[in-house]
Amino acid sequence: MSTAKYANQFVCDLHAYEPGKPIEETARELGLDPDSIVKVASNENPLGPAPMALEAIRGAASEMHIYPDGGGYKLRAALAQKHDIEFSQVVLGNGSNEIIELLCHSFLNPRAALIAAEHAFVVYKLMATLFGAKYVEVPDPNFVHDLDAMAEAVTEETRLLFIANPNNPTGTIVGEEEIARFMAKVPEHVVVVFDEAYHEFLTDAPDTLKYVREGRNVAVLRTFSKAYGLAGLRIGYGLCAPQVAAILQKARQPFNTNEVAQRAALASLQDVAHVQATVENNAVGLSFYEEAFQQRGLEYVPSVANFILVNVGDGDAVFSAMLKEGVIVRAMSGYKLPGWVRISIGTESENSRALAVLDQVLGSQ
Ligand SMILES: *Cc1c(COP(=O)(O)O)cnc(C)c1O
Repeated sequence: MSTAKYANQFVCDLHAYEPGKPIEETARELGLDPDSIVKVASNENPLGPAPMALEAIRGAASEMHIYPDGGGYKLRAALAQKHDIEFSQVVLGNGSNEIIELLCHSFLNPRAALIAAEHAFVVYKLMATLFGAKYVEVPDPNFVHDLDAMAEAVTEETRLLFIANPNNPTGTIVGEEEIARFMAKVPEHVVVVFDEAYHEFLTDAPDTLKYVREGRNVAVLRTFSKAYGLAGLRIGYGLCAPQVAAILQKARQPFNTNEVAQRAALASLQDVAHVQATVENNAVGLSFYEEAFQQRGLEYVPSVANFILVNVGDGDAVFSAMLKEGVIVRAMSGYKLPGWVRISIGTESENSRALAVLDQVLGSQ
C-alpha cells in the first residue's frame, strides 16, 4: 500500500536518527553477557545518576497514578534561581532534544531556513527536514564553528541559527569574544540557539546567559542527560528570552516532562559532589585518550566535552570489529566523517578496555 503518498512529505523524507547501539541489543545479537559490554557510544555519565537523584526516583514511584506537574514548578523555580533569570524564562523539555523540536516547530516552515555548522549535532538537520525548512550548512575549518561565516550566511529567510557549544561530535568550543562579535552582527529576525548540553564539563564557559537577560532573541539549551547522568529519564531545559519562552510554552504538550524526571532533576541539582566527581573522572579520561592517541600517532580532535573524535581509517569497520569484542563506540559516517569514530569517556577501567580493544582491532587490520 502506498500510504506514504497520503502522508506529510516532509515526514516521509526524513532519515530517522540513529542512536548509539543499545547494550541489550548488542548482547542479544552477539550472544554476550550484557554486563560484559562497555558502551561508550552516547556520551552518558559512566558514574550513573546522582545518589540523591536515585533517592528521589524511589520516592516518586508510589505516586505514579497522579499526572505530573505540567507547569514543572519546583524544578523551574530552582533553575531560575540557579541561573539568575525569571521563572517564566525556563522551559522544560523531554530531553533538550524536545526543546530543539519546539524551536523548529515554532519558527520553521517551508519558506524559512535554519543555519548550523557542517559537523554540527545531526538533530538540527533532521528537524529542519521535518518542518520542510531549508538547512544551511556552514563550513567549520578544523572542526570549529566559524561564527563570522555563520553570521554572513544569514538571509531574510533565516529563522534559527544553532551553535552547539561545545559541539557534538567534534568536542570543540567557540569563545566569549567570538560570540560577542557574532551577536553584534546577527539581526533580530534570527533566534540564536546555544546548545550547551556539555556545559557542566567546561572550566571556563563563555557567558551566553547575558544575551538571554538582555532580552535578545536567544535560547540557551541545557540537559540532565550528560553530566547529571539522567539520559534515560529524558529531561532538559531551555533558558530563553521572555518572548521566545512564551512561544515555546504554547508549542509543548501539557505534560511533556514526567514527574519522576522532574523530581530526579531537582535532586541532581543539589548533588554537587556527584557532578564534581563526574567532571574529574572525565578530565582524567580525556587526558588518557589524548596521550594514547599521541603515542600511537592517531589523529584526534582535542575535546572539552565527555567524548573524543579519533581518526581510525575506516570508522564503520572499526566500529563493527570493536562491537564483536563487546565495546560499543560510535561510527561517524552519518556525519560525513567515514574515517572517524567517537568514543565517550568512561570509567578508568572502561577507558582501558576500549583502548585495548581499539589497539587489537587496529593491529589486526
Ligand atoms: C546529547 C546532546 C543533547 C541532549 O540531548 P537530550 O535530549 O537532552 O538527551 C543536545 N544537544 C547536543 C549537541 C547533544 O550532544
